[in-house]
Amino acid sequence: SDSHFPVPISPKEVDLSQHYPRYFPADKGSDGEEAAAPQQIRFADVGCGFGGLLVGLSPLFPDTLMIGMELRDKVTEYVKERILALRAANPGQYDNISVVRTNSMKYIPNYFRKAQLTKMFFLFPDPHFKEKNHRRRVISMQLLDEYAYVMEVGGIIYTITDVEELGEWMRSCLEKHPLFETVPEEEIKADPVFKLLSTATEESQKVARNGGQTFHAIFRRISLKEE
Ligand code: SAM
Repeated sequence: SDSHFPVPISPKEVDLSQHYPRYFPADKGSDGEEAAAPQQIRFADVGCGFGGLLVGLSPLFPDTLMIGMELRDKVTEYVKERILALRAANPGQYDNISVVRTNSMKYIPNYFRKAQLTKMFFLFPDPHFKEKNHRRRVISMQLLDEYAYVMEVGGIIYTITDVEELGEWMRSCLEKHPLFETVPEEEIKADPVFKLLSTATEESQKVARNGGQTFHAIFRRISLKEE
């Protein structure tokens, strides 16, 4: 059940000081030592699992705030502890990543404003094979409407899976959606983030150990003429 965690009623209720205390100290009285605050969360890792992607992205984009969204309570607690341990062992690093326990299929608009995000990640999402369960997939035409809303024009949505059928499904939803266009393969190959998709997360490492194939679909948020 997901009825036991708090949900912000709107993005302005998201307490950044809880997630990124070095950038948003609760005690504003200290004299100017605090790091220049990035204004808002820019990257979201949806269904982040054990947090390997956030840990990999953090040093690549040290001035970007990122959040993982995870439904499982224990897994979320693990990621919180992992980030606190990394901060303690590496002072001045890993202050830009955090995690929240939530159901991303219900609450994305509670967390992010229109055009807030520059990257969204969906790495190795649960496949939900049966036709009647396709509505539970984290990529669907309806959910892409929400993702398009919270993404900045030019922002990039990254998906990867080892389940070929799901890979085709995610690609076909993105191709059909009027607010996304495919990112050319040569641009993808040059993107430093691309390598992390198949190496950084716990699930990607499991797939790699077993010699599994992966299928990615990487699309850019575009604008319609009317916008
Ligand atoms: N992305 C991670 C990785 O690559 O290692 C985890 C992949 S795991 C197969 C899928 C994760 O999505 C699980 O941790 C699951 O709890 C989470 N998840 C499933 N549905 C979710 C939802 N509606 N909201 C948030 N997280 C969800």
